[in-house]
Parts: sequence; C-alpha cells; structure tokens
Amino acid sequence: MGYATCAFAILSVVSTRVAADSLANWPMVAGSTGYGRAALAGSAVISALLVILCLVERTGRRRTEATLRRTLAVQGAQLEEVLATSRLMELLQVCHSLAEANRVIRGALPRLLRDAAGAFYVSRGPDSALELQVSWGGLSAPQSFAPEDCWALRRSRPHPFEPGRSSVPCQHLGGVERACLCAPLVADGHAFAVLHVQSTAAETLAGDVQRIAATLAEHLSLAVGNLRLQETLRTGSERDPLTNLYNRRHLEISLHRELARAQRHGHAVSLVMLDVDHFKEFNDTHGHDAGDAVLSEVAQVLKRHTRAEDIACRYGGEEFLLVLPSCTLDDAYAKAEAIREAIAQRRVFMHGNALPRITASLGIASYPLDGERLEDLITCADAALYQAKAGGRNRIIANSPPGDVVLFEQKGRIAG
Ligand code: GH3
Ligand code: MG
Ligand code: MG
Repeated sequence: MGYATCAFAILSVVSTRVAADSLANWPMVAGSTGYGRAALAGSAVISALLVILCLVERTGRRRTEATLRRTLAVQGAQLEEVLATSRLMELLQVCHSLAEANRVIRGALPRLLRDAAGAFYVSRGPDSALELQVSWGGLSAPQSFAPEDCWALRRSRPHPFEPGRSSVPCQHLGGVERACLCAPLVADGHAFAVLHVQSTAAETLAGDVQRIAATLAEHLSLAVGNLRLQETLRTGSERDPLTNLYNRRHLEISLHRELARAQRHGHAVSLVMLDVDHFKEFNDTHGHDAGDAVLSEVAQVLKRHTRAEDIACRYGGEEFLLVLPSCTLDDAYAKAEAIREAIAQRRVFMHGNALPRITASLGIASYPLDGERLEDLITCADAALYQAKAGGRNRIIANSPPGDVVLFEQKGRIAG
C-alpha cells in the first residue's frame, strides 16, 4: 500500500511536470485554454497531497517498526529473566547445603540484577545476626548485622532508599550514598534473610532491578528457608545444652556484629575469658556429674552478672567468654572481679553434700585498646587468662593495664 502510494505520487509528479512542459512548448495546442491550466493546477495539488501522504505513511511505519523492535527486546529480556530464574530455582531445589546454594546464587544473581551491586544475608535463627553469604559488584558489605538494623526485615517488605529523598537508609548500610533496596525473604511470616541491591552509579535504582530483586527474594524464600531449616536441625541450636549459655558459634557471629556496631558508634567492647581452676582434678576427685553441676553454677553466676545486651557463652569445656558491649576496660575489670568473687563464694551441693569451693581465673581484652579484629581480641583475652593462671589462679589479668578501676574487693586484683 505504502509503495503503491509512493509510486503513484511519483508518477503524478512526473506527469504534471510533462504536462507543464507541453503547455510551455505548445501553448497554441492546449495551454491557451483555461481548462488546460486548471487541470494542470489540480494535478499539481493531487501530486503534492500524494507526496505528503507518502511521507506521513513512511514516518508512521518507521515508528511502528521501532515500537515493535522495543517490545520484542523487552519480551526477549523478560523471557531470559524467567528462564534464568527458573534455572536458579531448579538448582536451589537440589542443593544440599546453604553453602552450595550460595555458590548457585553467586553465579545467578549478578546476571539477573544487571548494573547493580548486591549482597545476600541469612540469619540462622530467630533474633540471630544476619550473616553475609555472598556479595558482588564491589560492594563493601558488613560481615553481619542485627535484624533490627534493617527496615526490610523489621517490616517484612522491601525497603528502598534514594539519597536526597525523604526515605531512611537501613542502619547496616552505614552512610550509604547510593540508591538501594533491601528485599526480605519471608517464611511463616518471619523475615529470616535479606537480598540487598545497590545502584553502582546512578542516584536511582532502575525500576527493573527493584522489581527483579523483590521477585527474586520471594522465589528464594522457600528454597533458602528449607535449606536453613535443614542446617539448623543438623547443627543443633545456638545454646549449650548443659549451661543454656550461647555456644561458641553464636558468640563469634554476635561478636562480629558487636564490633561492627562499636566501630560505627565509637563504643568500647570488652571481652572476659574465664576458666575454672584445676577442674580436671575436681572431676577426677568428685566425678563428672559433680563437675557438670559446678559448670551449671558458674553459668548461673555469669547470667546474674550480665545485662540483657551482654553475651555470655560457653566457649569450650570449662572455659567461658563474656562479650560486654559499650563496656570500657575498667568497667569490665570491675565486673570480672564481682564474678570471680561470686564463684569463689559459691557452694554447690551434690546429693545433699556440699562440694569443695572452686575458683576461676579471668583474662580481659578490650576493643579498641587491644585490637580491632575479633581474632586479635580473643587472642589477647586468652593470653591475659594464661598470665592469670601462671600468676597463681583465682585472679584477673587485663591485657592492657586498667586505669581508674573501682574494685568490689581489692583482693585478687593484679593489673597486667
Ligand atoms: P587449669 O587450672 O590450668 O585450668 O587446670 P584444669 O584442670 O582446669 O584444666 P585442664 O584443661 O587440664 O582440664 C580441664 C578439664 O575440664 C578436663 C575435662 O575433664 C573437664 N571438662 C571439660 N568439659 C567438661 C564438661 O562438660 N563436664 C565436666 N564435668 N568436665 C568437663
Ligand atoms: Mg581450667
Ligand atoms: Mg581450660
């Protein structure tokens, strides 16, 4: 139709031109009459109209073609997205562990969420810290953070942030200056993981990326939730069954979180490592059950001397570790002294008979005084405990000498 119109328009133009030439050459034959001239003018107008029609048609066709190409490209991308998502879900369903799932996620998500950096966090249990599983796109993501530091987790719905707008960024992002989105993974109404995406350049995060991230979080919920549940059943709870204190694994995660918070807010964090003195001898003399009763009693003392935000953990056999957030070395020293004293005073009964009193030695390290990394701080607390043992036991040594410490009782204080 378009080509025919064009051909007709061209023919009209040519014929008009030929007619005009004829009139010019033989005015006596045709051009001398008024009819001839009127016919010529009419033919010129029709030709012009046909040319315009032809141009309008061509422009319209080009527009339609461009729209069609765009639609096809969008549909192609969507099809690719659906296929990639279904491949991801298929693989996740046959994963045996969260570690395996993380490798699959690490391969798929950067491709699905193009032009965005991201990180994926999972918490191991209710109220537990969110632990970094994978990150991509050069994002400097914290190793762990508390659930209350993420709006998406608190509200169980995606939380976008755009700098300069009235939105509020999540605390775990620090001073983020780029547009980002946290999308929670929810199982049984409980948000247990979060997919975080961040724009790599622009101040806004593409609508497509936001939509894909929110959809992915929904899809991942079931698969990751199942793997997490299997892992929780496999690895046991976060608590030590004898003392009901946190276990070492939980402590290490929490300590990461506390150190990150302390760095952000400029607080101190103190660590107190405690070991029961001559416990092997106690066990050998009074039996393992008596030893267990003593360990439970030590745990009670620790619980009684710690605040809700402190973390008391059974670090191993007869060793315990306290994490005291927002607690300076001097305050930690005073608390350690109260604990040491309480343990030494404690009487444990077994079958109605009082067991001999036991004592404990304690080592203290404090952030940032003794180091900034978890491993360094634990090593310092351990070294201080070793000195306390070497110095005669039933005493406290701080890795760095404490300053103006107010002691509950002077006895037993030995500044390192
Ligand atoms: P030190 O004063 O140098 O710490 O001496 P120790 O005897 O306490 O230290 P050692 O490491 O030689 O012995 C620790 C003992 O703790 C050995 C082990 O039988 C006992 N123990 C570890 N875990 C448990 C437990 O769960 N229950 C009981 N009853 N004893 C335990
Ligand atoms: Mg011991
Ligand atoms: Mg020991």
